[in-house]
Amino acid sequence: MTPENLAFANAPFDRAAHHRTDEAWLEAAFASNKAKTCLLMAGRPLVAGGWAGAPLRPGEPLPKGKQHLVWLSADEARSLSDCPRLFLGKTAEGAPIFALNAADGFDLEDSLLAGRGVFGDMRAAVANIPASDTQLAATARSIFAWHRRHGFCANCGRPTKIVDAGWKRACPACDAEHFPRVDPVAIMLAVSGDKCLIGRQDSWPSGMYSCLAGFIEPGETPEQGAARELFEEAGVRTTGQAEYLFCQPWPYPFSLMIGLILETASEDIAVDKTEIDEAIWITRAEALAAINGEHPKIFVPPPLAIAHHILRAWAERG
Ligand SMILES: [Zn+2]
Repeated sequence: MTPENLAFANAPFDRAAHHRTDEAWLEAAFASNKAKTCLLMAGRPLVAGGWAGAPLRPGEPLPKGKQHLVWLSADEARSLSDCPRLFLGKTAEGAPIFALNAADGFDLEDSLLAGRGVFGDMRAAVANIPASDTQLAATARSIFAWHRRHGFCANCGRPTKIVDAGWKRACPACDAEHFPRVDPVAIMLAVSGDKCLIGRQDSWPSGMYSCLAGFIEPGETPEQGAARELFEEAGVRTTGQAEYLFCQPWPYPFSLMIGLILETASEDIAVDKTEIDEAIWITRAEALAAINGEHPKIFVPPPLAIAHHILRAWAERG
């Protein structure tokens, strides 16, 4: 079951995909006063709140505290009707939800949106906006990142255009259809009895460790990909036993993190330094202390990341 405070995974919205090809419905929905429209620029969502209204200087970091996605008024949304648009779906109350993608360098202060917020770094914003909004922002971020990289047809090389309310690209030259990309990643906790294996990169903050992870290849199951990556990165073989826990959309730019626990056949480690810098076995008690911020040397990612919940799910079984 998906943990409640896992980011990007718990928005109670209906994708209402049957509306994606209904242009008349989409136009009326976008223009209606019920519409909820958010705005992104270069992967950064427009957020507000958390400070007393003083304008932020360009580049100034977001203040600590509660923030929210800025929902545009109908007039504000209309003023941006040239921006690529994504129909995200409907709220539980039936209000249509859209996202717009402003051009790089879009000047908020020279628009109707002057003073309404700032384009926040996604990793900072996600810790501060309501959990239910993180999946909306992440979905829009991934789709717009895909459009940015796929302007040309992979079949014939000609320019493609956005169709189906942002969920497809079509090639007018060869009629090929292109669908948004999702990159599956196995993120795994290798365990041996009462111990688990965690690793780190030198570029991470001192003392931070996490689960190992790697992209699943074509023709592989998540369990096979996890076992292969574990051996490639840490030299550890599995018994073949793997347990799926839950997964997390990860919008950097469009991954899907698939959480697994793997039983290992031995505790011998042979780290491939081109993949990770260190891998260590820790006990269940150490894992619990690290999760709870009580370990003297080791800490792990916060609850918005799936690695935290994989470690917790295993550590709390003891
Ligand atoms: Zn084509």
